[in-house]
Amino acid sequence: MQTTEKIWMNGNFVAWDEARVHVLTHALHYGTGVFEGIRAYSTPKGTGVFRLTAHLERLRRSASLYEMELGYSVSEMAAAVHETIGVNGVDSCYVRPIVFRGYGPMGLYAMNNPVDVAVAVWPWGAYLGEDALEQGVRCKISSYRRYGPNTLPPAAKASGQYINSVLAKHEASRAGYDEAILLNEQGYLADGSGENVFVVRNGVLHTPPTGDSCLPGITRDSIMLIARELGYEVKEVNLVRTDLYFADEVFLCGTAAEVTPVASVDDQATGGRGPVTEELQRVFFDVVNGRDQRFGELLEFPITATVGS
Ligand code: PMP
Repeated sequence: MQTTEKIWMNGNFVAWDEARVHVLTHALHYGTGVFEGIRAYSTPKGTGVFRLTAHLERLRRSASLYEMELGYSVSEMAAAVHETIGVNGVDSCYVRPIVFRGYGPMGLYAMNNPVDVAVAVWPWGAYLGEDALEQGVRCKISSYRRYGPNTLPPAAKASGQYINSVLAKHEASRAGYDEAILLNEQGYLADGSGENVFVVRNGVLHTPPTGDSCLPGITRDSIMLIARELGYEVKEVNLVRTDLYFADEVFLCGTAAEVTPVASVDDQATGGRGPVTEELQRVFFDVVNGRDQRFGELLEFPITATVGS
């Protein structure tokens, strides 16, 4: 990975190589961490962070599910993110805040372990590859199912929960595919290993409801907003695997993957980057790069004191 200079840890900046934890850190053993993936983009107005507040609110919700007190408000965390970007002198980058149970007593009861908070940033290009943005990715329906709301609530973005995505990702990759798509325990479409899924049929967008065990993705929410503004109908409905096979277009979306067309699912061609995906992808990249003022409020900038204030 491409490193940067400094990582924000519990309120202080430490050198990248010094941002270490003890091997008996609770989260390392039991997965008791929650995190976010956020992107910052270079825009004509400076570096803008895409939907920073929404991401930090999700972080706070995830932390509260696991009974971790952040110790910082959303606006303090937002300031820490902007500062970490500034200190490292990066413009376009990926931002990774993490909140986790640290070194302390061993055993499952974590309430006596410290809650550590860190923010790292680094340059990260197209997650599924530059080519994928045009050509699309080859997906496989995983033999692993996405966990349900009464096992590991998918509404929370918790470190330990990602073991499920790692199994699916490795399985798909071993079989020669680019990405895994997971069904839930009932057999309905949930999401990709790290992306939400959209199906286009007859010009209408369909995506699974969050009750079907997908992460309530912030890119998903943004795409629904943008698509509706562009005049598309968007439906949150139960989807089954044949809805992917018989789609006019399928695309994945997420902070890392941005908007990536799907070329095939289980070797069934899905139309690749059709006209709807292409338009949404183009508008999405215009928005995040600060070229489309209709959605200007989705990019967040550091709050700077105005002259005379
Ligand atoms: N589903 C899963 C399982 C994910 O890990 C992600 C990435 N956070 C997403 C969907 C997309 O979410 P977002 O758009 O908020 O990045």
